[in-house]
Amino acid sequence: MRVLVIEDEHKIARALKKALEQETYAVDVAYDGDEGYAMATTEPYDVAVIDRMLPGQHDGISIIKAMREAKIHTPVLLLTALGSVSDRTTGLDSGADDYLVKPFALEELLARVRALLRRPTEQHATILTAGDLSLNTVTFEVKRADKSIQLTGKEFALLEFLMRNQNRPLPKSTIISHVWDYDADVLPNTVEVYIKYIRNKVDQPFDKPLIHTIRGFGYKLQAE
Ligand code: CA
Repeated sequence: MRVLVIEDEHKIARALKKALEQETYAVDVAYDGDEGYAMATTEPYDVAVIDRMLPGQHDGISIIKAMREAKIHTPVLLLTALGSVSDRTTGLDSGADDYLVKPFALEELLARVRALLRRPTEQHATILTAGDLSLNTVTFEVKRADKSIQLTGKEFALLEFLMRNQNRPLPKSTIISHVWDYDADVLPNTVEVYIKYIRNKVDQPFDKPLIHTIRGFGYKLQAE
């Protein structure tokens, strides 16, 4: 899952990037409103964490409004130092999905981001499943047929993305843009290499393969 952080306080931005990367997310950071605006409206993100007060032409509220006007429905967590009811209302009215007042605990922010990544149909699901494969997005446990599977951070991120989009053919370019950050030097071949790694762990020891290659296109995770 790929996260955009727009935050001008470098110390906070760095702490957020580090904490989110530990959760296996791919994280891009913008340090002012204009850079943030450009990234939020052109790159595909699964969730965005946006500070309200930003230097530049665009503040947090105007970025969210521009995203919604452009029909970009990426869930947004708005950060602010202001905590009054009217600020909260303005934030949510602009199209933010949730709101966190500074200073906040990193654990709280991670829990909110996790909640925003859940689809409406899986409100309380922290465990994703496909056939006999299960993946816990909180404890990072992966199991198939009750056998525990050990994955690296990037392997976990890739499998999580495939499971969240199961039964859908995913082009390699889509996989790259949701699993790796903007600065990562990723070639289509890198995806093939990581697919091979997770196949060796998730499919190879079992009867039925779950990860299917779509020749000349990409991959699909499907249990049936
Ligand atoms: Ca700020």
